Amino acid sequence: MDEFGLIQAYFAGSSAAQQGNGLDHKQSLGIGDDAALLAPIPQGQQLVVTTDSLVENRHYLSDVDPTALGHKALAVSLSDLAAMGAKPWAFTLNLHLRCIRKPWLEAFSKGLNALALEHGISLVGGDTVSVQAEEAVVVTAMGLVPLGQALLREGLQPGDELWVSGSLGDGMYALKHKPYANKLLWPQPRLALGQALRNQQLAHAAIDISDGLASELGHLLERSQARSQGLELTAHVYLQSLSQCLGPELKAAVSRNDLDLQQACLLAVRSGDEYELLFAAPLAARPAILALALQLNLRLTPIGRVDLRQACPAGQPATTDMGQNRWYGLEGQVLSLSQDALAGFNHFQPAGDQET
Ligand code: ADP
Ligand code: MG
Repeated sequence: MDEFGLIQAYFAGSSAAQQGNGLDHKQSLGIGDDAALLAPIPQGQQLVVTTDSLVENRHYLSDVDPTALGHKALAVSLSDLAAMGAKPWAFTLNLHLRCIRKPWLEAFSKGLNALALEHGISLVGGDTVSVQAEEAVVVTAMGLVPLGQALLREGLQPGDELWVSGSLGDGMYALKHKPYANKLLWPQPRLALGQALRNQQLAHAAIDISDGLASELGHLLERSQARSQGLELTAHVYLQSLSQCLGPELKAAVSRNDLDLQQACLLAVRSGDEYELLFAAPLAARPAILALALQLNLRLTPIGRVDLRQACPAGQPATTDMGQNRWYGLEGQVLSLSQDALAGFNHFQPAGDQET
């Protein structure tokens, strides 16, 4: 089988390549020509574009379940769309493969297709190349959002509460102890949440957690401060609150006494590969957010708040330089954490050397 046969057999005929939002027009054209023609963008909407690469031995192991890899390749990009409050539209798929393995492709396309159908996103093209070293899978996803209404990283306000969706911590725990755990292999992009937050104008800012809560929180602060000069913000995060939304693997490790609760919370602070949303919302939005949690059947936990930055009182540890976040231990005490203790996944560190 050559490249063309592969595309025909596994992608061109798949449901995701035949339907979905981006192909929902008689003048649209999917896989097969030199380029795809998408349905016209509805008036008053903006195109949102994001791309992510998953590289063998870096983001996944060679013997990963290919169905899960197909799911995850698309899920990580859908998570970016979710964080912008966008509706999925269309995506492309670039495959860098050493060779053509039919069962692998069959399973990979099945995982990819199922998630695409679930969210109505059309597979409209891609590229297939052979490589000698590491394989890779690259997805570029497009979404739509009403003009000027996307959820951004900037926009934090003093007094905002910080919220996270779902549970945290299993991403990093799995990386070390259980590389085949559900959280790592089957992330669930929080699209309904992102769109509802945008639609109901509940959130001031949002980001998805791919590199770890501490690191994403730093991004929210940095972007918000950069865009509104003179605003100096501090985020306060309470491990007590975070302990309410630890992932099931991490909770099990605590009950086995493999970790104490504070260690587990600190793992959750650093854990990447979560694909949950971290968002900031004014206090007044709390009842609507709790109602949304019920409606979506998704845990939403307030884990902290944002304040105007204050000078450090004498005798208290200085805030860490990770975007001036303050972390409070289970008894409410200010924790003095080094940057290392908060670091998430470093993509430029050799795979075997990650601090977990
Ligand atoms: P070109 O030589 O013009 O780049 P290709 O032969 O690479 O065209 O691709 C032929 C068609 O198949 C195009 O529509 C392209 O978008 C699609 N395609 C190629 N690889 C993939 C893939 N991995 N997944 C989905 N569509 C693909
Ligand atoms: Mg090509």
